[in-house]
Amino acid sequence: MAEILRGKPVADQLQTELTDKVSALAGRGLIPHLAVVLVGSDPASEVYMNRKKRTGEKLGFRVTPHILPGESRTEEVLAVLTTLNADAGVHGILVEQPLPDQVDKELVVASVDPEKDVDGANPVNLGRLVGGDERHVPATAQAVIEMLERNGIALKGRRAVVVGRSTIVGKPAALLLLNRHATVTLCHSRTVDLGSVTRSAEVLVAAVGKPRLIAGEMVGEGSVVIDVGTNVVDDKLVGDVDFDAAKERAAAITPVPGGVGPLTNVIVLRNVAAACERANGA
Ligand code: NAP
Repeated sequence: MAEILRGKPVADQLQTELTDKVSALAGRGLIPHLAVVLVGSDPASEVYMNRKKRTGEKLGFRVTPHILPGESRTEEVLAVLTTLNADAGVHGILVEQPLPDQVDKELVVASVDPEKDVDGANPVNLGRLVGGDERHVPATAQAVIEMLERNGIALKGRRAVVVGRSTIVGKPAALLLLNRHATVTLCHSRTVDLGSVTRSAEVLVAAVGKPRLIAGEMVGEGSVVIDVGTNVVDDKLVGDVDFDAAKERAAAITPVPGGVGPLTNVIVLRNVAAACERANGA
């Protein structure tokens, strides 16, 4: 029976470290400031934004929402970003996704100042990650690594399989694992015989968005399973991994909810604090 890797203790640890960092910045007269841009009224995005604001303010950050009407055009979103980019008092900018269809998502993401791009979505930061520079990395991918490293799970030389190749989760998670010297395989919807690949993993990361795609027999005996998937089934949140079956084979596994999810906001805030330090010569 697997050890259950819960997000809460890791999130608490990260928060404690962050509190110390924010106190040190306050001692220098600095308050790390995150601007959140929300276009329209997607209920999930509103929830995420409010959570960031609550957690941020609890930890001593300034978090300012910038809410634009749902019918906003690309130029109107870019105008807000231009102002935020130029404001030296703003250290981090996060544009909530999804954006409405009429907004050019790629252009918006690429228009966030790379030094303020605290969710690592700007192609400049993705390029830096490819080169091993991890100053701004998508928070969910970082959450995968924090969950592994803070639970003492070795990565060097291990066989890691990531299922899902999105720019915001799967690919950066694979690159972070590669930067830590794992031997990485990246799977996707065209992967043939997915189960034979996932079974070979010593560390398996599922980031797909398909409820219970990873059946128990697709999990290697004694492996570590990180389930990033968040899917709603019958009003309940479930992951991409069949948790009950997988926990009989894995050595350790994250639950959904309560796994990597609780880490992402605190990691975004950590990125804001780091950007604030860098902008002020630390
Ligand atoms: P996405 O952009 O939809 O990407 C899904 C990936 O899964 C794609 O690369 C796709 O392959 C692959 N895929 C789809 N069906 C597959 C199959 N049958 N076999 C193998 N691979 C398959 O999703 P995302 O944004 O990366 O998010 C992934 C999951 O993580 C979602 O459930 C999302 O809700 C969750 N998530 C959680 C957090 C959090 O906990 N804080 C944050 C972000 C995302 P192709 O590239 O070939 O299409």
